[in-house]
Amino acid sequence: MVAAQKEMLFSQAIPVQTPQSKIGHARRLVVIMAGFISLAVILLTYVQVTWDKRVAVEQHVEEVKNLSTALTLQAESTIRDAHTVLLSIQAKLALSGYTEANFAEIRELSRVQLGVLRELESFAVADADGAALMTTVETAAAPFTAADREFFAYHRITRNPSLYIGSPIRSRLTGNWVIPLSLRLNDPEGNFRGVALASLNVQRFIDFYQEFDLGPEGSISLFKRDGYILARSRMPAESIGINISKSPVLQMMNEHGVPRGTLTAKSVIDGMTRIYGFDASTRYPIAVAAAISEHDALTVWRSRAMQAWLLSAITLVIFTGMTALIWRALTRQERMETRLQAMHSELAQANLTLEVIASEDALTRLANRRKFDETLDTAFRSLRSRDRPMALLLIDVDYFKRFNDGYGHPEGDEALKRVADVLRQSIRNDVDTAARYGGEEFALILPTANAESAPVVAERVRSGVEALRITNEGSPYGTLTVSIGIAVLPSNHRLQDPKDLLLAADKALYAAKAEGRNRIAHQSVCRSVFTNG
Ligand code: GH3
Ligand code: MG
Ligand code: MG
Repeated sequence: MVAAQKEMLFSQAIPVQTPQSKIGHARRLVVIMAGFISLAVILLTYVQVTWDKRVAVEQHVEEVKNLSTALTLQAESTIRDAHTVLLSIQAKLALSGYTEANFAEIRELSRVQLGVLRELESFAVADADGAALMTTVETAAAPFTAADREFFAYHRITRNPSLYIGSPIRSRLTGNWVIPLSLRLNDPEGNFRGVALASLNVQRFIDFYQEFDLGPEGSISLFKRDGYILARSRMPAESIGINISKSPVLQMMNEHGVPRGTLTAKSVIDGMTRIYGFDASTRYPIAVAAAISEHDALTVWRSRAMQAWLLSAITLVIFTGMTALIWRALTRQERMETRLQAMHSELAQANLTLEVIASEDALTRLANRRKFDETLDTAFRSLRSRDRPMALLLIDVDYFKRFNDGYGHPEGDEALKRVADVLRQSIRNDVDTAARYGGEEFALILPTANAESAPVVAERVRSGVEALRITNEGSPYGTLTVSIGIAVLPSNHRLQDPKDLLLAADKALYAAKAEGRNRIAHQSVCRSVFTNG
């Protein structure tokens, strides 16, 4: 039994429960959760920022769209006012003729109109050669002639009776940039008789447009459907007369037939990306586009987005820090538990070693007396409950005092070790127990042996020791021998104490000694049988 324990101690590692697996799992969980939460924070911030951008753009889209409609109506109304006056001049001349008195009357009436219509700068009437028949300007900046003007050529050639809106020109009467609005005058036969002209002051439009706050890069443009800019809030001087027929807004209007709408596009004038709202007049071939630069439109959004990202970055940093702290704490705990586990296993091994040492005989490595008593007691009790036989063998080395005397104590020790080896080899390690009972006496506990099998084991021991051929001059046999006493306990025994079994074995041993040694005596609780080699 001691041998079996030893084998377990040295060949089998004591199973160690790993705390790493549990803590490692917790640590993985912490990292996965941290990853998920971080991803969620980033995703939510992204969604919120994107949504916010859409809302910001939509707000501005509505704003520029409404503004373009309002300004188109304003321009349309101004042109209609001028148109009305021109129509009345045309009618008056057709009805009352081109007399001095008529022109004087027309001049006075027109001046009254100019007092109310602030965007209008002047009225004039030119004859078929372009010379002035009437102007509302008292002191002209330069001699008036319309002969070389584009609108004049248009009316002379075209019989179109409707209002013609010309590209901006510098007025010869006032020296200002004006938009010429003109009507063809006919004689009674329908031949070209001249032109009635109203001049819109470009600067008034520009001043008006500049009152709207569309950001530093915003712009408002009044333009003809053929692409000529009439007035523009930005860089007015450079913009006047520019043709923007290739611009996305005009393409949308003219090529795609969309008179009112919004779009985000690059300006053909300055290349800046703007959000445009545009509206075309249904009455005149003009349109207004109001635009805010995308950059300006998103200024507020950008600062809000920065705040949102900053906030989520701070959250992530704090969160990562907390995760790192939890990770460190878990790692420390894992280390401590590993150390504790190692200490525990070392302690368990030490305990086992101690237990083996406490139950082992130092010289022969067989079970010691303490272990023998314990094992005998256990075997005896288990025998009683299971109703089986068992055997106890007491082995005593013959004439050992003489051996010691003859060869010395160290030789005696060696001889005892060899006898112990024979005992070990004669039993089944997992069932039987070989013990050093004391001095040169040994014992075998055979928990399953009966009257037939116990003597077989005893004989194996006796002959085994004899076969060692250890010389012992002091013995009549010439070699070292053992005497063995066997006590067999039958299955139906009535014994109360294992000591009785021991006593029986001792009696048998005594008998074997008395009969001449180197033999086996069998004591079956009440009777004894002798056999020898
Ligand atoms: P018998 O045949 O009647 O058994 O004679 P014996 O000499 O063997 O018996 P006795 O009891 O007279 O002597 C036993 C001797 O065993 C005495 C002692 O010196 C010796 N002995 C006991 N333990 C040890 C030991 O551990 N080592 C050695 N070398 N000798 C031991
Ligand atoms: Mg003895
Ligand atoms: Mg002896």
